[in-house]
Amino acid sequence: MISFRELYDTTVSLLTTLNQTIRVWDIVDILAIAYLLYRVLIVMRRTSPGSVINGIIILLAVAYVSNLFNLKVMKFILNQTLQMGVIVLVVLFQPELRKLFEHMGSRRSGSLFRRRVKNEDFEVMLSHVVAACEIMAKSKTGALIVFEREIGLNDYGATGTQLDAQITSELLQNIFYHNSPLHDGALLIRDARITSAACMLPLTNNANLASGLGMRHRAAVGISERSDAVAVIVSEQTGFISVAVDGMLKRRLNRETFETMLRSELTQSSAVSRARAKRKTGRTKAKTARKQKVDKR
Ligand code: ATP
Ligand code: MG
Repeated sequence: MISFRELYDTTVSLLTTLNQTIRVWDIVDILAIAYLLYRVLIVMRRTSPGSVINGIIILLAVAYVSNLFNLKVMKFILNQTLQMGVIVLVVLFQPELRKLFEHMGSRRSGSLFRRRVKNEDFEVMLSHVVAACEIMAKSKTGALIVFEREIGLNDYGATGTQLDAQITSELLQNIFYHNSPLHDGALLIRDARITSAACMLPLTNNANLASGLGMRHRAAVGISERSDAVAVIVSEQTGFISVAVDGMLKRRLNRETFETMLRSELTQSSAVSRARAKRKTGRTKAKTARKQKVDKR
């Protein structure tokens, strides 16, 4: 990486070596750099990953043009920029890269929540969770319960208090009871056992969520965006039960819908749904190919 001083010195020495024979293209070069710097400053004020891609394309196009017309200063600056480019990209795409590594690193043995838990234990767990949520909804006790599926949530679990407890409706109510020491934050469940409570989750940036929804709902949606977890929220404001999966929030669930949704989400893993989706597209492609063959005949 070069310092501003070095950049300045090199620019000056380059201009000196031009031996005061300024060509039209040198003026174009200088004007282009001034314009480029101006654009870069504007872009830096409102950079988003999408516009970075456009920026890279523009940078490559400028590199091509400066090569074509041998714009020396421009070429030099571009070379330096491209060398630093990797670091800039890592910084700008840090959230996306983090998400990718989390997905890659925390994938567990590929087993399903349901497959790791005995059938009767699963049913007992489900009935306790549904009962607790219903009671907490009636008493407007805020709760946030996160079910880990394939993607490990150890990083988030580490932010809270470690537990290893069997799930019962009473324990859930106790944990989320107003002002109890562990009521703040999220409770994590792995393989039908409580692994930690009072955990901090990442908040979503989704601007489309209803404006009345606060941190609890934003944390639920956030964890469902970053992982394949299923997050259940009981609102202390409204007493509504909601479920967040895959960045989507289903609100105001009644007991039946809530239980059905939870059972269905926890009995199929994201791997299963991905595989199913793949098979489905495979079948559709095969069907289309067969249809095209028939049509050709
Ligand atoms: P409610 O409908 O229950 O009021 P809400 O979506 O309006 O929920 P808030 O009123 O802001 O949310 O809820 C605040 C509570 O959310 C905090 O007391 C804390 O328990 C929880 N919370 C806030 N931030 C986080 C986070 N990053 N991770 C987990 N839980 C959080
Ligand atoms: Mg609130």
